[in-house]
Amino acid sequence: MKETSVVLIKGDGIGPEVVESTVKLINAVLTDKKINWIEAPAGDKALQELGDRLPQQTIDLINKYKIALKGPLTTPIGKGERSLNVRIRQLFDLYQSIRPIRYFSPIKTPVKTPKLVDFVLFRENVEDVYAGIEWKQGTPEVKKVIEFLNTQFNSKISDDSGIGIKPISEHGSKRLVRAACNYAKKNKRASVTLVHKGNIMKYTEGAFREWGYEVATKEFGFITEEEAKQGNPENKIIIKDRIADDMFQQVLLKPAEYDVIATTNLNGDYLSDACAAQVGGIGIAPTANIGENAAMFEATHGTSPASAGLNKANPTAEMLAGSMMLEYFGWKKESKKIVKAIQKTFKQKKMTYDLARSTPNSTQLSTSDFTQAVIENLQ
Ligand code: NAD
Repeated sequence: MKETSVVLIKGDGIGPEVVESTVKLINAVLTDKKINWIEAPAGDKALQELGDRLPQQTIDLINKYKIALKGPLTTPIGKGERSLNVRIRQLFDLYQSIRPIRYFSPIKTPVKTPKLVDFVLFRENVEDVYAGIEWKQGTPEVKKVIEFLNTQFNSKISDDSGIGIKPISEHGSKRLVRAACNYAKKNKRASVTLVHKGNIMKYTEGAFREWGYEVATKEFGFITEEEAKQGNPENKIIIKDRIADDMFQQVLLKPAEYDVIATTNLNGDYLSDACAAQVGGIGIAPTANIGENAAMFEATHGTSPASAGLNKANPTAEMLAGSMMLEYFGWKKESKKIVKAIQKTFKQKKMTYDLARSTPNSTQLSTSDFTQAVIENLQ
């Protein structure tokens, strides 16, 4: 029997409910394989019991087993505390955030043709303004930075500013775009779109665009939109780019024109939630955080504190993250079975409150009943 170990971080808020549903579903789909779940503390409970939101023992376990399935974790806003999610991604250099966004019929969504949405978004996951290099307004550090910039570079930064730094590197951009191009090639997708704000931030976002084109054309032989207009008899993958603000309208107006998307960290954060809304919301949007030596799978959504402990949250996003994890192991049959069972459950119009409230004639189920329905549909 094939066996592997996965570090399990249940998370805060609705985390434990959606993670437990996912573990149950994965255990049910694996008949000739087994996952040993190694529970690791993190988040509010770890802070109360061990005095640390991200204890060293959890870091050591991820280091040892290399794979984690994680529920959402709380980030206190504006208290100077760094996001645990961002810390984990940076500690293990999980530089790709992969977010597939697809429609499950018959979920009612805010757009007319949600079935045209089938994107796989690659978000750079460790650089950009998420690098955590920032200084609070009024501190001696920020004063030093402002003075340096104003005197050495003739900047005109107001003394009462806070400052954040946006590093975008060549190697960081190229490895992310390389991963997106590899995915497009392997999965026979039609195009890769680089999303950036290079018209304003020329040496960060603009450079991401340049490096992206270089990787796609030189390393993968993809052709540009201009070249494709002259004809594309070999059906080569097309590399294109869009400015981030335009992309927000493009995904609504012309979703069929987009396929694999590669973008910088902040753009990707915003764009992935907006795209998820087009297919029914972040309750069904999974994320795989992948690096060279470790990977962490999670739902895209947060802890949804208002629903915590009520057995009502939608576990689909976490389940789909679990399915991505099985695919990562090469357990494709089981990975696909989970997606099919979820699709079948939605087709039966069985869904949790977040989707049931807008989908006509649907049956609203609790988290546990929805999980049971998906497990029954594995057959
Ligand atoms: P959120 O994702 O928790 O909630 C946003 C909205 O979506 C709410 O209306 C919520 O009820 C709804 N929602 C989210 N997940 C749902 C689900 N599974 N089923 C049904 N409805 C769902 O975002 P927020 O309120 O901005 O953040 C709450 C906390 O989560 C914050 O501390 C934030 O930092 C954290 N967070 C963590 C992660 C992560 O761990 N990866 C991601 C995002 C936010």
